[in-house]
Amino acid sequence: MQIDSAKQLSAALAVALTILSTIVAATLYSFEVKLELQVLVYFIAIFLIFFFTINFFVSRFINNKLNIIYKSILKTKGSSSKSKNLTGDVFKTVNKDVVEWMKFTEQQKQEYELKEEYRREFIGNVSHELKTPIFNIQGYILTLLEGGLEDPNINRKYLQRAEKSVSRMINLVNDLDTITRLEAGQLALIIKKVDIVALAKEVIEYLEDFEKEKNINIVFNKEYNAPIYVKCDKQKIFQVLSNLLINSIKYGKQGGKTEIRFFKIDDNVMVEVADNGVGMDEKHLPRLFERFYRVEESRSRDMGGSGLGLAIVKHIIEAHDQTINVRSTKDVGSTFSFTLEKA
Ligand code: ADP
Repeated sequence: MQIDSAKQLSAALAVALTILSTIVAATLYSFEVKLELQVLVYFIAIFLIFFFTINFFVSRFINNKLNIIYKSILKTKGSSSKSKNLTGDVFKTVNKDVVEWMKFTEQQKQEYELKEEYRREFIGNVSHELKTPIFNIQGYILTLLEGGLEDPNINRKYLQRAEKSVSRMINLVNDLDTITRLEAGQLALIIKKVDIVALAKEVIEYLEDFEKEKNINIVFNKEYNAPIYVKCDKQKIFQVLSNLLINSIKYGKQGGKTEIRFFKIDDNVMVEVADNGVGMDEKHLPRLFERFYRVEESRSRDMGGSGLGLAIVKHIIEAHDQTINVRSTKDVGSTFSFTLEKA
């Protein structure tokens, strides 16, 4: 018989106990047990039988019912949905588990909402970033089509400008690709022993033309004649250094100076990139490594920045299990410092 409610369970128990007590009474009577002893034995026997019978049925009933709830809870928690044998203070255990489950689902809901907000904000930012170069390109092409093509004063100039907007879009798409892969953990690091001094020199050489534009001088704080070996992914740290150095040029003052410094601290090497450029107020520092965060929108855009450079830098450094920090003072300059493990 399927028992679904407390009423059915009570009825079943009442029937079972009536039958049992009648059997016990009849047995005692048939053996003609003395009256005083008869009553005592009867009560002890009936208590034991009732206790075990009720305990068996009630426990089974509660276990069956609660296990249905447990299975749903465990399934949402992603655990195995095996039946749980509930003993002891069943309701306390159940209450504790349900409270835990509620906390878990609430946390999941919050994570989901956060991810959703993050996704929405990201898509909004990407389309906002793409809008400007696309509309610019459209404007240049339309002007050329409407007669500008035959005007030697503007045809080359407008094509060059369109090309600059295309480059900006390419930069943005490349940065987006990098950051998406970094966030998805798809960019595996190739850790090797790297001479960070030589690597910094390579980056400086690579940026030679760029630094000339603003007449910024990139130097080391002192002569580094001996190599300083660190464990890192060479290509990715090249990107970190070039992003930081490009920023020091973009946000540097004409004729300014950027200094690269290395410090050995315990098992790590700290690398600093310090400029004497425009700097920024302290209030911007906590959000500086967020994607698309910019202190001065217009300056960053004029420089062709995607707003993703520092977010990429932070991802790369954190993928190395290291940290990056920034100090800055408006109109004085900024210093970015990150660590790498000594090799
Ligand atoms: P962007 O493409 O805009 O340069 P980044 O992520 O590289 O994006 O930098 C984020 C913002 O941080 C920049 O827009 C700029 O306002 C600020 N910033 C970065 N580096 C420097 C620096 N060396 N000096 C002053 N401001 C900086």
